[in-house]
Amino acid sequence: MKQITHFINGETTNASARSSAVFNPALGTQTASVSLASVTEVEAAIQSAKAAFPAWSNTSALNRARVLFRFKMMLEERIDELARIVSAEHGKVFEDAKGEIIRGMEVVEFACGAPSILKGEITEQVGTGVDAYSVNQALGVVAGITPFNFPAMVPMWMWPVALACGNTFILKPSEKNPTASIVIAQWLKECGLPDGVFNVVNGDKEAVDVLLTHKDIQAVSFVGSTPIAEYIYTTASAAGKRVQALGGAKNHMIVMPDADLDAAVNALTGAAYGSAGERCMAISVAVAVGDIADSLVEKLADKARNLKIGNGAELGLDMGPLISKEHLAKVTGYVAAGVAEGAKLVVDGRDIQVEGGEQGYFLDGCLFDHVTPDMTIYTDEIFGPVLCVVRVDDYATAAKLINDHEYGNGTSIFTRSGAVARKFTHDIQVGMVGVNVPIPVPMAFHSFGGWKRSLFGGHHMHGPEGVKFYTKRKAITARWPEGDMAAEFVMPTMK
Ligand code: NAD
Repeated sequence: MKQITHFINGETTNASARSSAVFNPALGTQTASVSLASVTEVEAAIQSAKAAFPAWSNTSALNRARVLFRFKMMLEERIDELARIVSAEHGKVFEDAKGEIIRGMEVVEFACGAPSILKGEITEQVGTGVDAYSVNQALGVVAGITPFNFPAMVPMWMWPVALACGNTFILKPSEKNPTASIVIAQWLKECGLPDGVFNVVNGDKEAVDVLLTHKDIQAVSFVGSTPIAEYIYTTASAAGKRVQALGGAKNHMIVMPDADLDAAVNALTGAAYGSAGERCMAISVAVAVGDIADSLVEKLADKARNLKIGNGAELGLDMGPLISKEHLAKVTGYVAAGVAEGAKLVVDGRDIQVEGGEQGYFLDGCLFDHVTPDMTIYTDEIFGPVLCVVRVDDYATAAKLINDHEYGNGTSIFTRSGAVARKFTHDIQVGMVGVNVPIPVPMAFHSFGGWKRSLFGGHHMHGPEGVKFYTKRKAITARWPEGDMAAEFVMPTMK
């Protein structure tokens, strides 16, 4: 059985006593075993990153960017190889895996602008012969803890910006699909990244807890479920770290009566069922306003019944399996709960046969109608291919539903009315908003993050917010007097 280990100080290492199984979800078979780091191994990674920090932070931003640029070129050449790894361990279809890598690569491209994004500010002559300037300096050793659903992209929301800013990095990826992170670490080394600047420790809570509390870790970035995000935020903040912890979601899309119905149906189908619904920006609730509901549900049902589902390694599919047997049981449990709570299950995806994937964790698209806000299928993040339709009479009720929900990651509206769209973008209590765009994931040069219980901490990820998160400001006031300076006993003011 293949053993996936750690990448510390430029080498794959392993002294772990514990391991966890890694599966191919389309086949339902174990493909590898991943080492779970001990406290000592995490300590070794931290010491390696700490030792690498002085030289890396003093390398010019231009030369740091050049390493990232070489990595970007390598990623373009090797994208199919990485996409196959992602698809095999996650289950998502090959083309979708390529899509996530490209979205991650865009953050590398943003970080290649390190000399520009790190520029500070200067004000000449704040007093006679006195200049003031502010610079952005690296924090030190920073850590990233990432979820299973984007094993390449989500780490790339973090480390390219952190490294561009001069920090050294420790990544703790999901133990469910760890190979992509190890491969990326090896490729970065090939691109000339010095040893110790980027380390990967595989593991579980034991490894994470060291990162959250260790005195040599300056900042923690996290993406995952809300209960863990809250734990990460409270624990690492209490230990004095800067923290950004992105959590779960329940993203609604409002379909107004004047919307282009076919466009809305196509958008909802892709956004609800793509990647088997295992996206934090998936749309899991369609809010049908007024008399559009019947035709919307009819057309959605037709789409949901005709999804092409199978092993993500094959081409031309719409979606693959769920990540694990346990997660499949959890999602089908929600489908059963929805029926018991009185929602109408228009399309039931539970009875699915995939040739060659009889042991795989497959669930076909499920569609619920007449869902109400008190049902668990409405309140909870299901994280599977289950779309709920809620019927309301007007826009105000639809917007209130969204604003009252505990999550506030992404949302969208489909309408032909500029006035309604403008009101929506202004009023809605959600961090990322789409207008006739179903999954409004911001580009790398903007920043990604939700509101309410979808994000703990003050910073969104990548883009300008990422640069702020991974740097600290220093304000310098400088005078070069030609004569003697007398002692001043009053609060200095500029003359
Ligand atoms: P998860 O919270 O179970 O795991 C995330 C990371 O935390 C993993 O590395 C895991 O090993 C670690 N972890 C798990 N339990 C822990 C514990 N008790 N103590 C310390 N560390 C622990 O999430 P997941 O199932 O891997 O990913 C799916 C979740 O991630 C969904 O809720 C999804 O919405 C969310 N997500 C959010 C975003 C976003 O941008 N807001 C993006 C992607 C995924």
